[in-house]
Amino acid sequence: MPARILNGNEIRDQIYTGLRDEIAALRSAGIQPGLATVLAGENPASRIYVSSKLAACEQLGLASWRHAPSASITTRELLELIASLNADDSVDGILVQLPLPPQVDAKSVLEAVDPAKDVDGFHPMNLGRLVTGKPALVACTPSGVMEILRRSGVTIEGTNAVVIGRSDIVGKPMALLLMHANATVTICHSKTRDLGGVIRSADIVVAAMGRPWFVSAEWLRPGAAVIDVGTNRVSDATEAARLFDKFPDRLARFREKGSALVGDVHPDAEHVAGAITRVPGGVGPLTIAMLMSNTVKAARLRRGSVSSFGENRAAASAVKP
Ligand code: NAP
Repeated sequence: MPARILNGNEIRDQIYTGLRDEIAALRSAGIQPGLATVLAGENPASRIYVSSKLAACEQLGLASWRHAPSASITTRELLELIASLNADDSVDGILVQLPLPPQVDAKSVLEAVDPAKDVDGFHPMNLGRLVTGKPALVACTPSGVMEILRRSGVTIEGTNAVVIGRSDIVGKPMALLLMHANATVTICHSKTRDLGGVIRSADIVVAAMGRPWFVSAEWLRPGAAVIDVGTNRVSDATEAARLFDKFPDRLARFREKGSALVGDVHPDAEHVAGAITRVPGGVGPLTIAMLMSNTVKAARLRRGSVSSFGENRAAASAVKP
């Protein structure tokens, strides 16, 4: 039986419906949550990401500010900008779009963001709170994956979960969230021996490795829930010909557009998995939704209105054991 497709756009829309109510409640208390974005330089992909984030703010009625310093900005200048955003009470969330220009010390810039406004969840303070299971602003992509699993009724407690990838922004927080939700978690990385054997033990697989269609259908346990975080832009014709050998429609589309977006999981997995996300249309929409959710959560926490509006289900569930 083909897998149930877990549609990220539908889940994003559910989250937005809840957020609209929260934003309206905050508005009637005189609070308009606001997100400041910082995009240094002209990276075309980053510009698209930032524009999508600002468009989501507009769609939901959040205030937003776009800061676009030049690619030649120094670490010191960027730290001054972050300090001014930290000090601005109308700014609830600060998003520093990565990658930063090479001359900038990205780590010190990210660590300069007030943890209470760290809506990307990258600050060590928020990571530490996540480790200890305390309420935190949690990285958007992993918390989006948890929303997909929970809202799709996938059982987490007591299951074996395998996370492929151990980056600070996806793999590690992902594993912690699954562990807090009472899964037994294995983290795989490039030095893992017998990746297929480990994946075969999993009821839940989260692939976040950045390798086009690397996870093969034969590695999956029949019925597993498979979440594909991988977002790989294929633009090399030889690689496309190899990948799309048995997918003539995809190859034709690649030739038309000159590139294709693919995940880490081979599409044949849809014949083995019980439930699966696609790329695009799976995890991607949730990343922006959780950024919006974190901005609203930061506004509530910073402006002391937590009790009036109850828990922000989307963000709060992220660290609930
Ligand atoms: P990253 O920092 O490059 O980390 C990749 C991880 O995968 C590393 O831990 C690496 O292991 C592991 N890995 C690489 N090759 C492997 C292999 N052959 N076998 C096992 N593990 C392997 O990437 P990231 O930032 O976490 O992102 C991962 C993917 O998610 C990318 O495709 C990215 O574009 C995508 N992403 C999507 C969204 C979204 O909104 N949908 C958001 C963020 C990221 P080592 O640690 O040993 O090197």
